[in-house]
Amino acid sequence: MDDRGDATGHEDTDIEPGKNWQMAVLATILAAAIFALDTFSPVDMAIAVLYVVVVLLAANYVERRGLLAISGLCVGLTLASFFIIHGDSFDLGSVMRCAVSIAAITVTTLLSLRNQDATDSLKEQAALLDLTHDAIFVRDTEDVIRYWSQGAQELYGWTRAEAVGRNAADLLKTAFPHALATIRRELLQTGRWEGELTHTRKDGSRVTVMSRWSLQRDERGRPAATMETNSDLTERRRAEDALHQTRTQLTHVTRITTLGELTASIAHEINQPLAAVVTNGAACLRWLDRPEPDIGEAKASVERMISNGRRASDVVARLRALARRSEPQHTPLDVNEVVEEMLQLLERELAQHRIALELAFDRHVPAVAGDRVQLQQVLINLSLNAMQAMDAVPPRGRRLGIVTRAEQDEEGRAVVIEVRDRGPGIAPENLPKLFNAFYSTKQDGMGMGLSISRSIIEAHGGRIAAAPNETGGMTFAVRLPVPEDEPT
Ligand code: ADP
Repeated sequence: MDDRGDATGHEDTDIEPGKNWQMAVLATILAAAIFALDTFSPVDMAIAVLYVVVVLLAANYVERRGLLAISGLCVGLTLASFFIIHGDSFDLGSVMRCAVSIAAITVTTLLSLRNQDATDSLKEQAALLDLTHDAIFVRDTEDVIRYWSQGAQELYGWTRAEAVGRNAADLLKTAFPHALATIRRELLQTGRWEGELTHTRKDGSRVTVMSRWSLQRDERGRPAATMETNSDLTERRRAEDALHQTRTQLTHVTRITTLGELTASIAHEINQPLAAVVTNGAACLRWLDRPEPDIGEAKASVERMISNGRRASDVVARLRALARRSEPQHTPLDVNEVVEEMLQLLERELAQHRIALELAFDRHVPAVAGDRVQLQQVLINLSLNAMQAMDAVPPRGRRLGIVTRAEQDEEGRAVVIEVRDRGPGIAPENLPKLFNAFYSTKQDGMGMGLSISRSIIEAHGGRIAAAPNETGGMTFAVRLPVPEDEPT
């Protein structure tokens, strides 16, 4: 039997109670007929050898103990015929014939028992495969299904009887991610293949599965069959999509909350250029109203009006971007620019908390790939936390440090942005909880800021970490990887 046969061997040897009973009757009739022939036929032959047929027949339908009983019975009948015919006068020929028959029955019984053991262990293994929820099937080199697990039946809807013998790719209408030849080549070279496939169920619905193939070889090393283990990804995908959706909504909610906190600062940001527009407009009119209009000065006023108008509209644009709920868009970014823009939104907040800024920008940091709005959200969260923490220290000591620098280590090139404060810091036992959702020590805190910041940074392939400063306060460091094609 080759591997293909092994994998499906248990299929044909399943013992059914009804058939079992019929076979017992057939074996008995056959044994009786052989006994009659052996005892009463005048032919001088080893007719008892035919009992091996009874043993072989029984081997398929009875268990170990039953088979031993039947073969014992056959040996008994052989001896009984022998004594009935020959009585006490044994001649060598008839003794030899009797011995050959008994030997044949014994050897056949032993071989059948061994075969039963092998079949049993295969059945046990196949039953184990049935325990898993994964859909498992075995197909031969012609892609014909030879084994079909309970899980496969549940996932695809075809019963074992319907699937075995069918061409797998035809039955399941498999959609492959790459050319089938490429997949086959990998399977032959490495003995394995893993990837996502789309299959069609019996009811016509589509199912996406994570598929793992392993190649079985025969004793001469030739490919004999492929075992395919498939787990359903459709549900997981749906759950992941729902999770993603919820996360996006939550990100949006925290962003809007942050904007709420920043309203005063933002209003100021817009009000200032608007006031400048009005002042410059008035000045312009005065230059024009003169008996001899000063066109040069009027022009300069109009230019200032335009640049202030632009500034206001830039702030509005940034705000709208921050308030909009949209899928992140990754573009090449200069982190210094990102930091400067977010500081403009924080200007008033800094003044209110009486915080001095300490900026240390590396002007030559390489560009990173990221979503400007999301990264600003992270930096606003970190800076607001830092400012709020410093409420606890006297105004003289309130300093917010922002550092940007390039870094190169075994993980590759990166840009690091540090937000440092001089607040009371965080107790070491609270550090591990810091990035957990809903962890907050503030009375009206949501505890989502750091958790969302971390998921944003991780979605950028980066890391965020918090560490206490030697001189007091905390440093939150965001590390963003530099894309490989970025020039140094
Ligand atoms: P929230 O600001 O709503 O509390 P966060 O996730 O932004 O949520 O912060 C969680 C907690 O981490 C804060 O409540 C605070 O206790 C602590 N924390 C964050 N940043 C700092 C900091 N710079 N200094 C001290 N504690 C901080």
